[in-house]
Amino acid sequence: MESQSPPPPLRCFSDSHQSELFRDDGVQTVTSAEQRKVERSIQDVLTVYQQIHSLPQPTLLREQHYQYLKKGLRHLSDAYECLDASRPWLCYWILHSLELLEEPVPAAVASDVCQFLARCQSPTGGFAGGPGQHAHLAPTYAAVNALCILGTEEAYNVINREKLLDFLYSVKQPDGSFVMHVGGEVDVRSAYCAASVASLTNIITPTLFEGTHNWIISCQNWEGGLGGVPGLEAHGGYTFCGTAALVILGKEHMLDLKALLRWVTSRQMRFEGGFQGRCNKLVDGCYSFWQAGLLPLLHRALFKDGDMTLSLSSWMFEQQALQEYILLCCQNPAGGLLDKPGKSRDFYHTCYCLSGLSVAQHFGNKDLHHELILGKEENRLAPTHPVYNICPEKVAQAIQYFHQLPIPAQNGEPACAEDQS
Ligand SMILES: [Zn+2]
Repeated sequence: MESQSPPPPLRCFSDSHQSELFRDDGVQTVTSAEQRKVERSIQDVLTVYQQIHSLPQPTLLREQHYQYLKKGLRHLSDAYECLDASRPWLCYWILHSLELLEEPVPAAVASDVCQFLARCQSPTGGFAGGPGQHAHLAPTYAAVNALCILGTEEAYNVINREKLLDFLYSVKQPDGSFVMHVGGEVDVRSAYCAASVASLTNIITPTLFEGTHNWIISCQNWEGGLGGVPGLEAHGGYTFCGTAALVILGKEHMLDLKALLRWVTSRQMRFEGGFQGRCNKLVDGCYSFWQAGLLPLLHRALFKDGDMTLSLSSWMFEQQALQEYILLCCQNPAGGLLDKPGKSRDFYHTCYCLSGLSVAQHFGNKDLHHELILGKEENRLAPTHPVYNICPEKVAQAIQYFHQLPIPAQNGEPACAEDQS
């Protein structure tokens, strides 16, 4: 038998790793003390790992994650009562995690999920956080993504596209932005949720996103990232939403891409390897997707802009360091993933840690694909679509299905739009 070469050394066990620890320049603040505390807790985790394992082969706890997710799809503990208004999100987080792990969903369970999401659909269009609640863009995004992951005729048919378009018009604002729900707040998440569901289900009319790209671009600030609304601090979640929405609308080149690149790459933590959401904040596993997920979008945007210096084999962040953080610091031994050592697991962090791990493992797309899998081959996840964060085949399948159907008539279109012809 051929002898296998030893796995490459881990970055976090190299001699130079200690030099990446945070330096407070002799000025201790609340923030710097918190940062040191997190670094110490990560150091403890790494030390324990090194004591137990002779080979640097971090393992994805597939089976444990699968059992945790499978249980969640059928039954949730009382701890999830606070997420009663986010039930389509739970469906999406669990279904997407399962597809990344390449674990099929039994047909009967898939059908139950379809029927549940159908009950969350509002009579006025869009989906609510639970049956009988008001429609809201966030659960609408989650429900449409969940249904596209299921990808069955039954799943697609749950979506009332005519009513969905009415709902999107009802939350559209004259300046191009969207409110999250009728009477609710404006922020850049809503533009992404609207663009995501409208593009997947083929209901984009000529006026639906009029002015939206200019409004999103005005959310990019001096830091280079995007805030929730114009003038606010740059934030990973909002930056992902704004950038992905612009990609859908074909306007990403209007951002200052280099400033955005500098901002997002500076959010990867030197010692931890994971990402922070904002400047001076702590590492958090969920930003493994919200921040690292920006790099595929940026790579593509810069490529379209004719940048000839781009790598053809890796994204512009430390892919191995992120995998080390997720695999060594964010897994609960009993299944599920988490924010950072000491925090408890949940389905949100499970979904976005796995999504970030997938981004860090797969460079490129179908035509040009390069994998960097830390640890054994069994750690490999399925690739994810960087705009929708569902698997690319499911995006293609949904778009193919809904593009056979006509774009619905613009019943809900505001009267002012008619004057522009
Ligand atoms: Zn988080």
